Amino acid sequence: MKRPGRPLLAIAAGLWISVLSTVAWAQSVNVVTTVIPVAYIVEELGGTRVEVTALVPPGGSPHTFEPVPSDVRKLVRARYFVGIGGGLDTWSKKLLAAVPKGIEAVELIETPNLDLLEGEEHHHHHGEEHAARKDEHHDHKHHDHGEEKVAEKQGEAHGEFDPHFWLDPIRVRDAVVPAVTQRLIAADPDGKDYYEKRRQDFHQRLTALDQRVRAELTEAKTRKYIAFHAAWAYFAERYGLEKVAVVQEFAGEEPTPKEVAKLVRDARAEGLGAMLVEPQLDPRVAQTISKEFGARTMMVDPLGDPNDAARDTYEDLIQFNARAFRQALKTNMN
Ligand SMILES: [Zn+2]
Repeated sequence: MKRPGRPLLAIAAGLWISVLSTVAWAQSVNVVTTVIPVAYIVEELGGTRVEVTALVPPGGSPHTFEPVPSDVRKLVRARYFVGIGGGLDTWSKKLLAAVPKGIEAVELIETPNLDLLEGEEHHHHHGEEHAARKDEHHDHKHHDHGEEKVAEKQGEAHGEFDPHFWLDPIRVRDAVVPAVTQRLIAADPDGKDYYEKRRQDFHQRLTALDQRVRAELTEAKTRKYIAFHAAWAYFAERYGLEKVAVVQEFAGEEPTPKEVAKLVRDARAEGLGAMLVEPQLDPRVAQTISKEFGARTMMVDPLGDPNDAARDTYEDLIQFNARAFRQALKTNMN
């Protein structure tokens, strides 16, 4: 049954609430991000002058996330949308288009001086050709032109560059932090000194973080690792680690038990004692890996979780991963 008076009343109430919020929190800059680690960074810089929401929930993967209508409502109230870009959160394009008044959107992959690495995930796809290539190429570190062509043919929604740059604290410090600070100042010029002070403080803490991670990882005998998905290229480049293989060759795609078994064999052949798994991994796949690998799996997390004290800030998240990498590298035989 329709009650014609109702929508009008609701609109009036909505307007009243939005007027009240404007008065009460005139200073607050509302920012919506796709992934949690970017929300952590915005929080560090914005402090009490910003309100940050990440769309992908803890445990969710930006590679497979599907937005719901309430996500549009979050964007309607936001001053900025901050995504990653580069094929990681392509779904956000559709979401932004659904915001009636439009919104200023930032894709961090466009940040100057980010020194992006070439993408890897898009070099892979599933199917027969892939299986055949895998048998041909025991060395997964190199990709030939044949693979490039296949990737292009697949036409997947992946960019040319690897979008996981937030896992390198130095790239965050030198490129992402200044860019985000600039945006916050543009939205809230009264807070300029406040933001600038926070930027300097965070800059110093990121430098210290880099030194801690470096110290943590220098003890390792070997630099080789095998990970769940290709999220670690920037982290590995920064700290001199070497990827042997990834479990999930293509983001958002679960490996078959047979593929997992092959990876475990490869890892053993390389003398690796542990496999890095992620909380976003399908528990069934994790079980298969554990079964093949015994207890030697370590959890790394590219995305963080505000409900876990070990991963609820950017620094904690990076430190968490450094510790896991160190544990994994310690188990290597050669
Ligand atoms: Zn990823």
